[in-house]
Amino acid sequence: MLAGLFFFNKNASNQAKVVQEVVAEELDREMAITIESGMTFSIICEQAGVDYALMNDILASAKDIYDLSSVRAGKEIKFIFDKDTDQFKELIYPIDSEEELYVSKNLEGVLTAERKVIDYEIKIKTVEGTIDSSLYQSALDQNIDIRAIIELADVFAWTVDFGMGIRVGDTYKFIYEERYRDGKYIMPGKIIAAKFINDGKIIEGYYFYEAVDGNGKIIEGYYHPSGESVQKIFLKNPVSFKYISSGFTTGLRYVEAFNVSTGHRAIDYAAALGTPIKAVGDGTVSFAGWSKAGYGNLVSIRHNSVFSSNYAHMSKIYVKSGQSVSQGDIIGTVGSTGFSTGPHLHFEMVKNGTKVNPMTIEIPSDKAVSAEKMEEFKNSIIQWQEQLN
Ligand SMILES: [Zn+2]
Repeated sequence: MLAGLFFFNKNASNQAKVVQEVVAEELDREMAITIESGMTFSIICEQAGVDYALMNDILASAKDIYDLSSVRAGKEIKFIFDKDTDQFKELIYPIDSEEELYVSKNLEGVLTAERKVIDYEIKIKTVEGTIDSSLYQSALDQNIDIRAIIELADVFAWTVDFGMGIRVGDTYKFIYEERYRDGKYIMPGKIIAAKFINDGKIIEGYYFYEAVDGNGKIIEGYYHPSGESVQKIFLKNPVSFKYISSGFTTGLRYVEAFNVSTGHRAIDYAAALGTPIKAVGDGTVSFAGWSKAGYGNLVSIRHNSVFSSNYAHMSKIYVKSGQSVSQGDIIGTVGSTGFSTGPHLHFEMVKNGTKVNPMTIEIPSDKAVSAEKMEEFKNSIIQWQEQLN
């Protein structure tokens, strides 16, 4: 029997390619066990028919990669037994969504363990919608995997405030990868291209992998059709859409906006107690502790010689003065400490010593696509642009 399944294979290179999967006539015996809470590795081995000595060998060979004595409930562990001898051949355990532990036995009976990148089959999907109440609700209404919507919000986290900045009638359309294994849908993968029309303004972002720099750092990101980066030095909102959508049914809302006439030069976000707060940009913590000025637990971050940001009324602080932080790092949680009537985040942006409106200030963009790669980038987005427009 020859079963040909055509999918895009994401792994080998960044360029999607078509692969053919061939299923051999005779198969090794495979046993998949879904780990339940309270299940130890020895219970799992017992169920799989793996004896005590072999279990210890597996544990020992895997220990530098993953400690199998602390397997996690909800994951699926696979045992492969040889089709001729029915002897143990392989164990596969998912470390996270990207990597797996492989323990295999060679013909001499020696076990080796390795870490492998999970080779998902990739399907390309396009979805679109119009917002009636919230982005979250729109995704639910259309049965869009909410994890894909969270990714979408992350792509535009520098330009659109998905907590409060969206309007009824805003539209979105995006193309993304869906990850499958053995024909079964697992999770959304990377967003390839996205378009968001926010309050009449069109924002487009296209994924582009540029290169690996001298330090081994991957240069990739989302770029406007012009090649300018979608990313900016500051995030639009210190509370991620991910936290707004996960269980906060009422969503995030303004308690008070930036208002020069009333003297409230900050944005107040009402959010559930304990909601994580992110650093909007890279910087150094210049203050972390109790403020005597009514701010309660306060964190201040100095981003550069021009900008700093303040986060007040926090319930918990996770950073220390002098510490450097990266954009998106969780610095603490929403609270109601100091002069505050309920859980909210009082957020201030300071430019050259003056409090400025974080919603309207011009924020510098990250690095654009390099001149050498610009033509390649422009060619790579043509097909996606056609699909989006
Ligand atoms: Zn305030």
